[in-house]
Amino acid sequence: MSHRLIACDHCDYLHVEEEIPTGHVARCARCGSPLYQSQNNSIERSLAFAFAALVLFVLANSFPILQFSMEGRSETNTLSSGMITFWNEGFAFLAFMVGLTSIAAPLLLILAYIYVLLPLRFGFSFPAIRKVWRVLAVVRPWSMLDVFLIGLLVALTKLSDFADVIAGPAFYAVCILIPTTLLMSAQLDPREVWRKLAPKGLKYPTTDDIAAEQDEPRWATCEVCAYVLTGDAAHQPHAKCPCCGSVVHHRKPRSLSHAWAFLISAAVFYIPANVFPIMSVTMLGSTEADTILSGVSALIDAGEWPIAMVVFCASIVVPVFKLVVLAWVYTAAGMGVAGPLRQRTRIYRITELIGRWSMIDVFMVSILAALVKLGNIATVVPGFGAVAFCAVVILTMLSAMAFDPRLIWDRAILKMQQGTPS
Ligand SMILES: [Zn+2]
Ligand SMILES: [Zn+2]
Repeated sequence: MSHRLIACDHCDYLHVEEEIPTGHVARCARCGSPLYQSQNNSIERSLAFAFAALVLFVLANSFPILQFSMEGRSETNTLSSGMITFWNEGFAFLAFMVGLTSIAAPLLLILAYIYVLLPLRFGFSFPAIRKVWRVLAVVRPWSMLDVFLIGLLVALTKLSDFADVIAGPAFYAVCILIPTTLLMSAQLDPREVWRKLAPKGLKYPTTDDIAAEQDEPRWATCEVCAYVLTGDAAHQPHAKCPCCGSVVHHRKPRSLSHAWAFLISAAVFYIPANVFPIMSVTMLGSTEADTILSGVSALIDAGEWPIAMVVFCASIVVPVFKLVVLAWVYTAAGMGVAGPLRQRTRIYRITELIGRWSMIDVFMVSILAALVKLGNIATVVPGFGAVAFCAVVILTMLSAMAFDPRLIWDRAILKMQQGTPS
């Protein structure tokens, strides 16, 4: 055990790495956020799941997901059909987002795991291995196959009321692929990967380096590999991480203004997202426009309560909750409001985790529009509401990513130290 320093990425509290039992998670002593977890043979296990995931991904993309039959005619769709339909209908932004989140990002994630872990396991090297592992941190939040599956189930529920729908082989492949990719990530101890990828002889700072500092001790943590920079490097605005080569900032530059800009844009898009239809459905000659809210009430009318609740939470509760909570967290961080900082950090963490689930409705529209193409008998066409809604989800995700949660603590602690009531 290296007894290296680990700074919490949510509140910047400094810890010394300690041995913990296998399968346990070490949490921050101040804010309770997870710091690291311990896994046995983590590289081998994760690599095995990565290979299984690759096979399942190929199967999921090679066969139909659903087969839809009505009035003697039938259509099938594959994983990429939604993206192609959006593109053909002139919705380039939706085509890009659905392609990124349901195909490109999951595939890149699986390939990056194999590309990096295979040489680490068998002791050889591939070119730019550290860069690939760095890019992975950017790609990870955009892999949303689990959300896609729920969108698929909602589409299935909507269709089964008036047509025959059969799940194809790809449906089952996606169902197994999701837990496999989750295990691929969960079984890996990233510290082990970076210990092996770090340049030979790299020195990890210890508490002695912090104690040796003359003035107020300061440290900066690499967001990619968690290496803690001390001394002069921690004071530089664009220091380079000696472990992974990323640029390290003491705090994310202009974090609050970027986070606010994304959040305000999301709030603006929230209005057309609810006013305009997300899709129009033609059924036996008559056409009806569906907004997000009317989609939920149609599910309730059909007696599909569990699915209606899932869509209501993902499409209405989560976006409003995110907009309100993030605005409150940013205001409190900007003003240095004291109070329950631990709870505020936890709420920010939960908000960051649940935001992606709002993509359910976008995936549902992509599946229905690709599958229901039987002319006057039954046709689903995407609407502008889906574009605006997708923009809300993406902008709130970008806002939460731009925000540096350590700001929740910085000014509040400074004010407490100065004894200023807030
Ligand atoms: Zn913390
Ligand atoms: Zn680094």
